[in-house]
Amino acid sequence: MKVLHSVNEIRQAVRAARAGRPTVKVGFVPTMGYLHKGHASLLEAARKKSDIVVLSIFVNPLQFGPNEDFSRYPRDEQRDLALAKEAGVDFVFLPSVDDMYPRPTKTIVSVSEVTDRLCGASRPGHFDGVATVVTKLFNMVQPDFAFFGMKDAQQVAVIQQMVDDLNIPVDIIPCPTLREEDGLAMSSRNVYLQPEERKQALVLSSALRLAERLVKESNGTIAAEELQAAVKQHIEQSPLAQIDYADVLTYPSLEPVTDLKAVSSIIVALAVKFGKTRLIDNTIIQL
Ligand code: AMP
Repeated sequence: MKVLHSVNEIRQAVRAARAGRPTVKVGFVPTMGYLHKGHASLLEAARKKSDIVVLSIFVNPLQFGPNEDFSRYPRDEQRDLALAKEAGVDFVFLPSVDDMYPRPTKTIVSVSEVTDRLCGASRPGHFDGVATVVTKLFNMVQPDFAFFGMKDAQQVAVIQQMVDDLNIPVDIIPCPTLREEDGLAMSSRNVYLQPEERKQALVLSSALRLAERLVKESNGTIAAEELQAAVKQHIEQSPLAQIDYADVLTYPSLEPVTDLKAVSSIIVALAVKFGKTRLIDNTIIQL
């Protein structure tokens, strides 16, 4: 496994791996590090589908708002490298902020409409930061496949839209959300949770299971508004939970929905704060 820091190094490493082997497939997993089993599952999917696996670890300042957790985002390079090696990664791209942004960027990739709601609404500028850094990373690594977790379902929708609109020659592979045994979606941010918050954070996954049950038991006839109200009410039973959003939308277009019978797929998407820690989770329900 090679660890590379500069844009030139990663480009040359991938180019050399492809040299004279036109059928070589490069799989790419972009992350912000502090790796857990959810990241490992993306690497495993990449390993299965590709000859060369590239992992990037970069906490991207462009996607954090001024009052968000950029400076305290958890980092552990040594542990990340050990996990990457274990997962069979070929190249780890670990750029500095200066490597990625040697000058203030005057070019921003901005995806409209699918960013209007959920995290796009509650974190202004977040998806501009994501779309811009992912475009840069795609141009640096030039992968055949890129693997993204459905835990960030809006991110998957945004990246897929961007790749389609801009004809970026990368196949986006969505991967399922990995959970702790008790249901909490794995996240680098879970380390922030105090013990009582960690207990109450289970309300996200239990609210999603409730939503799935209500849709199933009503045979898809429940009104979206009623579904949303039931999910909110369930979360509100946890005294430490502060709801940022709990929405029911179409997926992947992320548009409002009233009659579930009129659509083929919905997302129930949650963002809930426990103290300073903001957790997200979602479920996609096929109708
Ligand atoms: P992050 O490091 O949080 O930016 O995440 C990097 C990638 O890992 C993104 O595509 C996430 O959606 C994905 N990811 C994060 N948590 C999970 C999880 N629990 N299960 C599967 N994928 C995940």
